[in-house]
Amino acid sequence: MQVLVLNSGSSSIKYRLFEDHVDGLLLRARGLVERIGESTGRAEQVVIAHDGTTSEEVDDAPIPDHAAGFRWIVSRLEDAGLADDLGAIGHRVVHGGSEFTAPTVIDEAVIARIEDQVPLAPLHNPANLTGIEVARELRPDLTNVAVFDTAFHGTLPPAAYRYAVPDRLLAEQGVRRYGFHGTSHAYVARRAAAALGRPEEELKLVTLHLGNGASAAAVDGGRSVETSMGLSPLEGLVMGTRSGDLDPAVIFHLIREAGMSPAEVERVLNRESGLLGLCGDNDLRTIEERAAGGDEAAQLALDVYVHRIRKYLGAYAAVLGRLDAVVFTAGVGENSDTLRAAICADLEVLGVRLDAARNDGLRASKAPDGIAAVHADDSEVAVLVVATDEEREIAEQTLLAVRS
Ligand code: AMP
Repeated sequence: MQVLVLNSGSSSIKYRLFEDHVDGLLLRARGLVERIGESTGRAEQVVIAHDGTTSEEVDDAPIPDHAAGFRWIVSRLEDAGLADDLGAIGHRVVHGGSEFTAPTVIDEAVIARIEDQVPLAPLHNPANLTGIEVARELRPDLTNVAVFDTAFHGTLPPAAYRYAVPDRLLAEQGVRRYGFHGTSHAYVARRAAAALGRPEEELKLVTLHLGNGASAAAVDGGRSVETSMGLSPLEGLVMGTRSGDLDPAVIFHLIREAGMSPAEVERVLNRESGLLGLCGDNDLRTIEERAAGGDEAAQLALDVYVHRIRKYLGAYAAVLGRLDAVVFTAGVGENSDTLRAAICADLEVLGVRLDAARNDGLRASKAPDGIAAVHADDSEVAVLVVATDEEREIAEQTLLAVRS
């Protein structure tokens, strides 16, 4: 059987096709349809043969809507002979609220319950729903499964997920912490345990997903017990364009004193803040180059970014009561040796000691099996760099849901 994984955004669909093989899931195609609804579209697919060779196809014909994008994907997969045994589609859905803590086979009732979560994720869930609706309409023969970014954090205890606000705000408005990037945190935690050769049940890990979006999770015995994102993906670490933590009074101040509307404040905090707000760039590579050349704003952006992560690392060590490993993943975590070194500098208090030679130049994608250890031999805590693979995790979860 083949499993198609779809990540539908407002003007794009990212996808991967996996073949369920005796040796595990094999990636057979990956692609992207973007600029949906614009005058020129862009679509590309890379097909991966069993011997590892790849062939690429690019198309710039306009893609009027998501349905056309989905048709492009399926027809290209068919052309490549990869859709003959398509059995299921796994959809990434950002917000499952308190409703969904496991991958869920989609029917009308599930769609209605995902729609109920839209007020919690107005920037994300509508596009995810569009992808689901298009897939169900065009391929009613396939099983569709929703895999939620929030689900892995369904194990957060009340002490971690409650905000100190009146009960009625939780009961009536769902105001609590949910956490995101769950598929990534779950995946790298499991891979880290395998690399350490220990059962996940006995490990206490902090996983750092540092990409354009960024979040930390404390994982105790394979279960998420604390994470840095909250009601929305805005809380927590400094991100590419999101502020992460700030005093909520900043929002009232901006509305009252700067005359900004709630929508403007939301835009500024989501799209104009974070690294971009601090230094005018949100790509870590560019910022590191600028900082290396003596640019003070870029250096400050890095300092704020690193400071916030270190604060969370210390807090999560306290939450866990012991630390077995710190796991770096996503674009920055997997690739930036300098950021990893800055985050782990002088962390003997937590038992963390990096090995400079192991860390220098290390990129997860170049490491065998996408995983490497970068701690010193005498470090009490392992420091691992793991290539995340959210789509593979979604495919695994989809198969689990289909088979259960
Ligand atoms: P992601 O959202 O996981 O794709 O991560 C995107 C972020 O990873 C961007 O800020 C990139 O600048 C950053 N990134 C990717 N490669 C590198 C690299 N070699 N060094 C530093 N940052 C990187």
